[in-house]
Amino acid sequence: MKINTIRHSLAHILATAVQELYPGTKFGIGPSIENGFYYDFDLSAVASREGGFSISPTDLPKIEKKMKKMIKQNLKFEKKIISSQQAKKTFKGQPYKLELIKELAKLSEARPRVCRPEDGPRHISIYQCGNFTDLCKGPHIKNSKEINPNAFKLTKIAGAYWRGDEKNPMLTRIYGIAFQTKKELDEYLEQQKEAKKRDHRILGKKLELFILDEEVGAGLPIWLPKGAILRKTIEDYLYQELTEQGYGWLWTPHIGNLNLWKTSGHWDFYKENLYSPIQIDEEHYLLKPMNCPFHIKAYQNKIRSYRDLPIKYAEFGTVYRYEKSGVLHGLTRVRGFTQDDAHIFCVKEQLSEELLKLLKYTIKILKTFGFKDYDIYLSTRPEKYVGALKNWQKATNSLKFALDKLGLKYQIDPGEGVFYGPKIDIKIKDSLTRDWQCTTIQVDFNLPEKFKMAYIDEKGKKQQPIMIHRALLGSIERFIGILLEHYAGALPLWLSPVQVWVIPIGSRHEKYAQQINRQLCENSFRIELKNENETVGKKIREAEIQKIPYVLVVGDKEKKARSVRVRQRGKGDIGEMKLNKFIEKTMRSIAQRE
Ligand SMILES: [Zn+2]
Ligand SMILES: [Zn+2]
Repeated sequence: MKINTIRHSLAHILATAVQELYPGTKFGIGPSIENGFYYDFDLSAVASREGGFSISPTDLPKIEKKMKKMIKQNLKFEKKIISSQQAKKTFKGQPYKLELIKELAKLSEARPRVCRPEDGPRHISIYQCGNFTDLCKGPHIKNSKEINPNAFKLTKIAGAYWRGDEKNPMLTRIYGIAFQTKKELDEYLEQQKEAKKRDHRILGKKLELFILDEEVGAGLPIWLPKGAILRKTIEDYLYQELTEQGYGWLWTPHIGNLNLWKTSGHWDFYKENLYSPIQIDEEHYLLKPMNCPFHIKAYQNKIRSYRDLPIKYAEFGTVYRYEKSGVLHGLTRVRGFTQDDAHIFCVKEQLSEELLKLLKYTIKILKTFGFKDYDIYLSTRPEKYVGALKNWQKATNSLKFALDKLGLKYQIDPGEGVFYGPKIDIKIKDSLTRDWQCTTIQVDFNLPEKFKMAYIDEKGKKQQPIMIHRALLGSIERFIGILLEHYAGALPLWLSPVQVWVIPIGSRHEKYAQQINRQLCENSFRIELKNENETVGKKIREAEIQKIPYVLVVGDKEKKARSVRVRQRGKGDIGEMKLNKFIEKTMRSIAQRE
């Protein structure tokens, strides 16, 4: 039995239990979701009868117990096809179901072929399970005995607007998780516990990296000094690498004339993710949702010859996209973020070579950040597309060629390409084996055409270049969120905002500690001298909380020997070392980004 069918069936059993425990409940919908299921309930009738009532987390064990009891009763799931007239009768007093029935009826009038001929005018499918009947197209299990009663758990309660619309009533959503076996359930719960400890929102606060302030606005992080230095370290690394690879750097504005995005097609295709235009004089401007049009304009600044290609432009470009407030999450889902964006403009014959270089480089970068496991997806032509078929074929083959040449395993995502071209997406796996979509490499024939881009070929004729869009980390904000969770805050030495603490044992060692401080600063270490009036033990504990990679403790012995006593994060005291040796050793590690 497919686990999703079990999860969806559990949603019905949850509703059955709620119906028995809280008569008068009105039912929304109850689908299966990743790892589990939910069901939406309107408890207002129960509340007015009881003089105020809501389900709280403390009620969940009771509901869960009821569900377990029901599962053990071997309840049958029975499907029936009925007419919309019958359905209206069956769901009398259930306004949400009636609303759905009305829509289903309309839909089948418009598309009569969705009904099988033997159904006649009957075309609404319902499922009965115990005393609960639900409007549902299935599929379901046949009997509740197919569910392992020890492999599910109700997890939380949340408010959810009916059909996600703020104008609709707020319903009570109960979430559950479910698996085939108790072992899987336990593992999942353990992983969740671990994930909570690694929550980048909590780490961000504890390590003083960034804040999200309501008065500033949802999804708009402010980077504190330690977070800003982390960002800069990442950006500097990419800056150096890309410069060596022949990229030119651009710096483009945060708003631009709306016409740019009308030309690009984004205004039509992604309107719901764009913010309202701003009027300036007689023109309309848009907060930029992507950097591409600006990079195209930079290309068009001169007449280009085939000899100039490929032209590669890179930018840490901050873009703004609308996200519903309900999905915003720390740094991983925000409304303003910075892409490590770049565009490569090349001739057709260079496409394979450029993609190959790009992929090779991507894998190297991801490895440097500590991500060695990933899933690669090649997304092919969707139903709605622009451009000639043979271009699509060629671009898809080029992407395949690059993947094969590097011996990378990948899956094909049929029809999941962007409307303007095929793409490669890379999902990295973090230390809890969670997937994160980061890298995207997209081939584009559309924008060069829309913006009438050109180069002059060997024969002096105008030709259209191909454009590759690519972001390796995706968004710097999101990537830092992922890094923090991957390392549980204990970032590698080269990325750590503060790399070393120097702790003098007594006041008479402070001068020596200051000398060390100076010497490390001169060698570009990020260092803090901890000379507050606290015990050494307390400072060491604080260093552990702050995930400081190295703590150098100095007293009489060290002062005399020009040495330091080294404590390494995760290892504790690793002994005394000459200061110069410590500097040499750690500098090497930083330079190699170990
Ligand atoms: Zn169902
Ligand atoms: Zn782009």
